[in-house]
Amino acid sequence: MDNNQRKLLSGPVYIDTKPNHLFSAEVAQKSHVDFNLCYHCRCCGNGCPFVEMMDFPPNSIIRLVQLGLKKEALGSSTIWICAGCHTCSMQCPMAIDMAAIMDSLRQISLEEKAKIGEPDVLAFHKEVLNSIERYGRTSKLDIMLRYKIKTRNLFSDFNVGLKMITKRKLNLIPSIIKGIEKFKELFKGKRNW
Ligand code: SF4
Ligand code: SF4
Repeated sequence: MDNNQRKLLSGPVYIDTKPNHLFSAEVAQKSHVDFNLCYHCRCCGNGCPFVEMMDFPPNSIIRLVQLGLKKEALGSSTIWICAGCHTCSMQCPMAIDMAAIMDSLRQISLEEKAKIGEPDVLAFHKEVLNSIERYGRTSKLDIMLRYKIKTRNLFSDFNVGLKMITKRKLNLIPSIIKGIEKFKELFKGKRNW
């Protein structure tokens, strides 16, 4: 977390881009969440299992959206690190669906070809979807290999992968569902990224 982000979280709000108030309305419309109910108690961040890896805690993402700070919200690592586990929503006194907010921010980010805060996470999502499109189900080994090649990080987790293969946790040959051609039709024209 850099100094600007710290100021945004704890002191007077630091604004380095022009606020875009249409952005707040767009997020509300896409997520179907009334994030103005949030009173920034930070219970969500206290319960989030991934908050340490995020550049902004979850409630600060809401604050960025409320302020119309589009560039900061879309460029944040938080929206990609959020795993949509809903732990925060269970702790939230206003039952705010944070995962839906993060989903809509990822969606807008892709639609607008914004700078992605965590490109490796997006690469992983893509490989999961590619696997489903190719085989009708996920093939873990296929996803891992393609992801590693794409991110040019071939040898990290090598030992874990090897262990999984020896324990037969990974199928070497992906199985394909019946009627895969019809299944592939579902994907046609649906992805613009
Ligand atoms: S727990 Fe709910 S009300 Fe509190 S900061 Fe998080 S989203 Fe806002
Ligand atoms: S849904 Fe996202 S923000 Fe909420 S607890 Fe899970 S990872 Fe954290």
